Amino acid sequence: MSTSVLTVAPGIHRIKVPTPFRVGPVNAYLIEDEPLTLVDNGPNSARSLDALELALSELRYRVADLELLVVTHQHVDHHGLTSTLVRRSGSALAVLDLLAVPLAGWPAYPERNDALAERLMRRHGVPGEVATVLRAVARAQHGWGGPAEATRRLVPGERLELRDRGFAVLHAPGHSPSDTLLWDGHRGVMLAGDHLLEHISSNPIIGLPLEEPDATAAFDERSRPRPLPAYLATLRRTQALDPALVLGGHGNPVRNARAD
Ligand SMILES: [Zn+2]
Repeated sequence: MSTSVLTVAPGIHRIKVPTPFRVGPVNAYLIEDEPLTLVDNGPNSARSLDALELALSELRYRVADLELLVVTHQHVDHHGLTSTLVRRSGSALAVLDLLAVPLAGWPAYPERNDALAERLMRRHGVPGEVATVLRAVARAQHGWGGPAEATRRLVPGERLELRDRGFAVLHAPGHSPSDTLLWDGHRGVMLAGDHLLEHISSNPIIGLPLEEPDATAAFDERSRPRPLPAYLATLRRTQALDPALVLGGHGNPVRNARAD
């Protein structure tokens, strides 16, 4: 089997999907169960799709076999291929309820986020021309994602049941406001997106609240997002769960996360 596929737990295979970003490849996880489930996918590019198809074929599957897609959060490296995969497989798409609207309206939400970022940069003394250029750079990234319609909106605390296993759906804002964890408490396995990563610290990024799509105008000191305190709070909750195996969105699995 190639280095892009690694069986990380019984019935769970990590597929490394290339990205054009500095973080390197993103991890998609194929869960061999009913329905056949893929957690995260990759940026919207032919190269990523090709790598994903090749990895699936090594596992004796095709894109058309996928039955359920799950997206862990709003960043393009994790979900850009969603609509292509749904079209080719007819699979269901389950995302956190808060993420469903931004995903369907892509890229309206990240464009509003860019407006927020530009305002913050200018307020904190970044020269205007630099802020303008950085906003243009950010806008160019949105094409690595694309609009996708969720068929199932996951409510925090509900369970996502497959034939042989079940996950609690946990909302874990911090790295992004939509971070979603799938927690198999029975086996101690957590699919964590970018909430916990093996080789780098997860970065809490300032983002507009997902539930207030027109929040740009209302943004002020009292309502501004506070991703770092949110992240620390969700980390404490994860620590209390004491997962035996954390399957993150980049890098290798983390065993005994609490000690590390
Ligand atoms: Zn991310």
